[in-house]
Amino acid sequence: MEKIDLSSLTYEALTDTVKAFGLPAFRGGQIYRWLARGVQSFDEMSDLSKDLREKLKETCTLATVTQATCSHSSDGTKKFLFRLSDGNHVETVLMRYEHGNSVCISSQVGCNMGCRFCASTLTGKVRNLTAGEMLAQITYINRTDPVSHVVVMGVGEPLDNYENLVTFVRNLSSAKGFGMSQRHISVSTCGLVPKILRLAEENLQITLSVSLHAPDNETRDLLMPINRTYPVEALLAACDRYIAATGRRISYEYIMIHGVNDTPEHARLLARRLARKLAHVNLIPMNHVEERDFQPSSPDRIRRFSSILSEQGINVTCRRKLGKDIDASCGQLRAKFEKQSKN
Ligand code: SAH
Repeated sequence: MEKIDLSSLTYEALTDTVKAFGLPAFRGGQIYRWLARGVQSFDEMSDLSKDLREKLKETCTLATVTQATCSHSSDGTKKFLFRLSDGNHVETVLMRYEHGNSVCISSQVGCNMGCRFCASTLTGKVRNLTAGEMLAQITYINRTDPVSHVVVMGVGEPLDNYENLVTFVRNLSSAKGFGMSQRHISVSTCGLVPKILRLAEENLQITLSVSLHAPDNETRDLLMPINRTYPVEALLAACDRYIAATGRRISYEYIMIHGVNDTPEHARLLARRLARKLAHVNLIPMNHVEERDFQPSSPDRIRRFSSILSEQGINVTCRRKLGKDIDASCGQLRAKFEKQSKN
């Protein structure tokens, strides 16, 4: 019989499971708190009797990550390669800001979205991460570096792993567990329209980031295969719906790629598309990926693009590059590691 992964259950489901074992409900609360603290085994749950811990081990399991490698950047950024219990690896990044420590987690092993500039998708999706595996990336780091913010912007498309993602967000933000404010949690998507509409109805106060990267279908089709299924108009309409339902501003991510999406015409069209919306544009200098032939825009072109947006009244910032001296963009570390292990 397959064991029940307690770390991937919501508080309610965990309590029900515990009750079904004939245990009092408060045992569920105790286990839930231990999972939020990142225990690696039932043996660390010191307020459960040894007997009970042994009994739990027979039928239940919990997700853990172990550190395969960790690179340190001179700016304080740490990039972890974590090993999952089945031998797969995921990347997680800790970034230090004035407002606190932010962790960027992966939501899948690999990715199926096929974005042309991205290293995470080169070998496709291997599997979804469980809710417990998403939380474990954070609780592992939180043991030494207190984590105040989380972005789901590492490897994977979080809305292609919808149920696990929502369970993870509820667990991370539950006052009975980790207790992170939902306003400190960002989820980034390449634009799965039906899932954005569903997320709008979940009554969450998280920040949604949308990887837009182009204001027109011709350019976006070239960069992101998902645009052929959900074109720009449909995506922006879903974003409007999300804003109306949640009252939350959307953050549009825009990678600057030389000669592809960074002309003044692109900037003006983007400004028209986002005019009068509750929107923020985050310009991202593209990280060069060895296997991809796009080049990053020059700082001058980025400045020009940014000033056109602000002249048109659009909120715009340019992402600071952290961890430049360690394997930069998502997917690169895992790809390199897998390549090396095959050699
Ligand atoms: N699948 C989700 C989340 C993971 S990607 C999404 O698409 O949003 C996280 C962010 O990194 C996205 O905005 C993505 O477009 C960006 N990204 C991917 N490859 C990049 C590269 N080479 N340089 C800079 N940003 C990149």
